Amino acid sequence: MGGELKPEWVAQLTGGRVHPGVKPAHDLHWDSRQVGPGVAFFALPGNKAHGRDFAQEALAKGAAFVVTDQDHPGAVEVSRPERALLVLGRALRDRFRGTVVAVGGSSGKTTTKECLAQGLGWPAPEGNLNNAPGLTRFFLHLGEAPGCVVELGIDRPLEMAELTYLARPDLGVLTALGAEHLEGLGSLENVVREESWLLWASPLRLASVQAAEGLKLPGLKTYGIGEGDFQARDLELTLDTSQFHYGRLRIWLPYPGLGVVLGALAALAGAEMLGQPLGEAAERLAGLRLPPGRMQRLELGGVRFLNDAYNANPLSLKAGLEFLQTQPGRKWLVLGRMAELGREALRYHLEAARWAAQVSPHRVFIGPFAQVQANEVGGVALETLEEALRFLKQNVRPGDLVYLKASRSVGLERLLELWPKEG
Ligand code: ATP
Ligand code: MG
Repeated sequence: MGGELKPEWVAQLTGGRVHPGVKPAHDLHWDSRQVGPGVAFFALPGNKAHGRDFAQEALAKGAAFVVTDQDHPGAVEVSRPERALLVLGRALRDRFRGTVVAVGGSSGKTTTKECLAQGLGWPAPEGNLNNAPGLTRFFLHLGEAPGCVVELGIDRPLEMAELTYLARPDLGVLTALGAEHLEGLGSLENVVREESWLLWASPLRLASVQAAEGLKLPGLKTYGIGEGDFQARDLELTLDTSQFHYGRLRIWLPYPGLGVVLGALAALAGAEMLGQPLGEAAERLAGLRLPPGRMQRLELGGVRFLNDAYNANPLSLKAGLEFLQTQPGRKWLVLGRMAELGREALRYHLEAARWAAQVSPHRVFIGPFAQVQANEVGGVALETLEEALRFLKQNVRPGDLVYLKASRSVGLERLLELWPKEG
């Protein structure tokens, strides 16, 4: 924590007008519920409401000032608060002297960001903060460091252009390209164009072999399992750990799955491109901590769970299933809805069911596509989590492995909270 935000400076940067009653702020926020004394409130347009409707509430709670398109006491009045935020974010980023690494892609951003940040020992925004307001707040509080790692998440056209303007990356890392946020982005073609803008906007460019396929960019370096400029070799994947060779180094990770292997590989490749010591990065990766719900291992009442239900799209589901295929024993696939796939949703869910069919005969589909999935490949179709819980409690035996995967909105991990703790 360290940044001070003067209303006059914000106004000067953004062409705004300072109204009476403003004070310097020590923090900023875009959610009025998070505003307290001395916080600058950005009244941004939202899907359901506009932030300007909460400006008075923020001021009543002691907000230092409000960046808004209205004219009233306590306001820094600008024509477009969302543009003002980008300009401020960029100015705060430009104060930072260290290297900025930015991670984009359709899956694996948070995993890869954490691998890079922890591998390099550099700060990064917590959890999944990957939009313009979150990045601006991160740069406000970022003190001195040799570098930092940020995640850029998009769900509409031109957002990557805005986020790369804000973050001005020195190294851009593209993790994977596939169907994501199609309701906002429109098509797979658009995903590729929008996401790959990250690479065009970065002087140093790194992408997974999967993401780089078909992209023609000068100076683009690639990483992959047994392929690309930077390679992971001799993989050894268990339910609790992953190991691979990176050159002569043996890398050990405390998580299972192909996603974490690719994330760690990206971190090592990035370290190499930035001239950072690899041995240290390898040591730090051995102590990696990921936020919950990404290939998280749990054991409840003798049953082994793999909670991958932080989020899901076809790409991350495929990565999870490919890993499961390498594991022995009786496996239950509990698959909920993948959201935001637009008009192609049915086709993607049928494809997912066919992948699942290759991995295990024990399939539980939940949600609006469950019945067609079960009709397609066989399996149980259920509507609610309560039904799924009842079914699993009756059918799962100690020693079985249960894989949980669905989009964030499903909240599939609630099954774990309801699962009996005793065997
Ligand atoms: P979001 O868009 O929700 O921020 P994200 O891109 O940050 O997602 P993560 O949270 O890192 O992605 O991981 C989401 C899912 O993707 C998890 O199931 C994770 O295991 C899987 N995953 C991680 N890395 C990869 C990868 N390189 N390729 C495919 N899937 C991956
Ligand atoms: Mg993320």
